Amino acid sequence: MFGLKEYRAVQSLDEAHELLMQSRDNVILGGLLWMKMGRKQYHTGIDLSGLGLNMISETEDSIDIGCMTPLRQMETSPLLHQWFGPLFSDAFKGIVGVQFRNLATLGGSVYSRFGFSDVITALTALDTQIHLYQAGTVSLSEFLNMDQKRDILIKAVIRKQAVKTNFQTRRKSATDFPVLSVAVSLCNGQWKIAVGARPSRAALAKKAADLLSSEPDEEKITATLDSVVNELSFGTDQRAGSDYRKVLAKVLVKRGINAICR
Ligand SMILES: Cc1cc2nc3c(=O)[nH]c(=O)nc-3n(C[C@H](O)[C@H](O)[C@H](O)COP(=O)(O)OP(=O)(O)OC[C@H]3O[C@@H](n4cnc5c(N)ncnc54)[C@H](O)[C@@H]3O)c2cc1C
Repeated sequence: MFGLKEYRAVQSLDEAHELLMQSRDNVILGGLLWMKMGRKQYHTGIDLSGLGLNMISETEDSIDIGCMTPLRQMETSPLLHQWFGPLFSDAFKGIVGVQFRNLATLGGSVYSRFGFSDVITALTALDTQIHLYQAGTVSLSEFLNMDQKRDILIKAVIRKQAVKTNFQTRRKSATDFPVLSVAVSLCNGQWKIAVGARPSRAALAKKAADLLSSEPDEEKITATLDSVVNELSFGTDQRAGSDYRKVLAKVLVKRGINAICR
């Protein structure tokens, strides 16, 4: 079990950042579900839960999701459903169980940059920006590829667009980590195909998506599926081999495209 010498419920992000920078042994606390699996002994645990960052709100152009928002809140949010369809409910329903998702936060899930993350796969298929205290606002893909500097993830901002979405995943058993996950979206004739748990973290198959039109025929879909497995890398781990993942990617992407075209 991990340990904390001190616990601080901060009053502002400035205070949180100052504390974070004081020592490499100080740490931001999310829902603690991943952290509690480790044994690291930290000095100060920095709790952001008094800062009103556990909310999903709407601006003229975007839906903003605070870092302390539990995954379950995203999964059941009428606002997210209204704009992005069942993407988040379908993506999150396989993550352990409801009690777990009542605690796991958006911030902890995105900041950890896990390859298996259903959360990151779903967000990758949308136009998502990440607001960081120090590094400012960056696109989700920039965030995923930048050096892991110590920072505070404040919120995710998703552009409001008329978008159709679909999420597909394969697990060996319910609630296990995904063997592969796929999020597909269609917005103004432009497709996005995000594939995660390859086992590396989610990335967009951009060339493959560009082959699709709004109503693609079988030939175009087949070309797209071939392009997905050529464009993205697929690896082997204890859950599956790379060849199996490539076969699976074609199946799941095809299901996603067909579900949107239906
Ligand atoms: C057994 C198990 C099974 C899981 N299965 C899945 C799965 O199938 N699919 C899936 O997508 N996910 C899965 N997860 C991951 C889970 O959904 C959460 O992503 C994970 O628990 C982290 O969220 P948390 O809020 O608990 O973060 P914590 O454990 O509190 O923190 C994780 C890390 O993020 C940092 N952090 C937290 N918040 C911030 C912030 N605002 N700014 C900067 N850094 C921050 C912490 O310092 C820490 O380093 C699983 C986790 C576990 C433990």
